[in-house]
Amino acid sequence: KLYNEVQDLKGNIRVYCRIRPFLPGQNQSHTTIEFVGDDGELVVSNPLKQGKENRKLFKFNKVFGQATSQEEVFKDTQPLIRSVLDGYNVCIFAYGQTGSGKTYTMSGPGLLSKSDWGVNYRALYDLFHISQSRRSSIVYEVGVQMVEIYNEQYCFLDLHTLGIWNTAQPNGLAVPDASMHSVNSMADVLELMNTGLMNRATSATALNERSSRSHSVLSVHVRGTDLKTNTLLRGCLHLVDLAGSERVDRSEATGDRLKEAQHINKSLSALGDVIFALSQKSSHVPYRNSKLTQLLQSSLGGQAKTLMFVQLNPDVASYSETVSTLKFAERVS
Ligand code: ADP
Ligand code: MG
Repeated sequence: KLYNEVQDLKGNIRVYCRIRPFLPGQNQSHTTIEFVGDDGELVVSNPLKQGKENRKLFKFNKVFGQATSQEEVFKDTQPLIRSVLDGYNVCIFAYGQTGSGKTYTMSGPGLLSKSDWGVNYRALYDLFHISQSRRSSIVYEVGVQMVEIYNEQYCFLDLHTLGIWNTAQPNGLAVPDASMHSVNSMADVLELMNTGLMNRATSATALNERSSRSHSVLSVHVRGTDLKTNTLLRGCLHLVDLAGSERVDRSEATGDRLKEAQHINKSLSALGDVIFALSQKSSHVPYRNSKLTQLLQSSLGGQAKTLMFVQLNPDVASYSETVSTLKFAERVS
């Protein structure tokens, strides 16, 4: 294999934790992060409570502390991304409550300079760079697709400007087919992602409001033709910015808000159930329980590789959400 440098740590599922820094104006005197170890250990506690039993220890494949740069995060993600060029399917998720840094990790902050690029821009840049470097006899084509899942419904963001379109597969899901047009440069990709983001923005009154309640999936389809052996390989990379995992107060949410919350709850637990089943090597994997797991079915399990970024807000006000985020992570890792 050319690019598959990933060591299998625990099967094909790995979990990284990332703690975002305090933001300007946030009270920094009460952090819930007590210890970050080099080998993926994390200790959290509620600083407003006394006592040892208050401390909770978790173990990840990696923990990125508050000062970690986008570049450093990508360094530990890149091997996984490159394995797509060997024909692997890869899913990368960002999980956490709203405001914990999911979008920052996956895309970056609003206005981007290159050093701010999140995983998705870096991944596309990297895949382009390699696929065009003609280091091997394989000629690659790259296609990109953006899907939003809101209230258990798919919304395919219109990317026709770049000549990519969707066709239904036997399982009823739309993915680019063999006649898909390739994206030819990083400039194409940037344009495409901006188009996607703009479509997303105009389809909702308040982007942030809605984006925290929908799952956003950027899929990169890679097709490689080996000119020597005349064989074809396909790999897929899905970059998923999940809906906020915060619990909604049932006594307060009503109507649309309650429905949204129930859909989010259902799909995040369905995702947890699928990854849990895979980590247990269970013979039954319940893909059918949500639109998200249906969409990603062929890239979850089997030879596919999964990475979950578990995002934390260090603020004491987030402590109970932090603990429930960590419990979700503990179950799937
Ligand atoms: P989410 O997508 O989980 O709701 P965001 O990615 O929007 O959270 O992050 C919330 C805020 O924190 C944003 O202002 C974002 O720029 C900032 N932020 C998140 N992670 C970091 C980080 N690692 N470094 C600096 N700022 C960050
Ligand atoms: Mg977000």
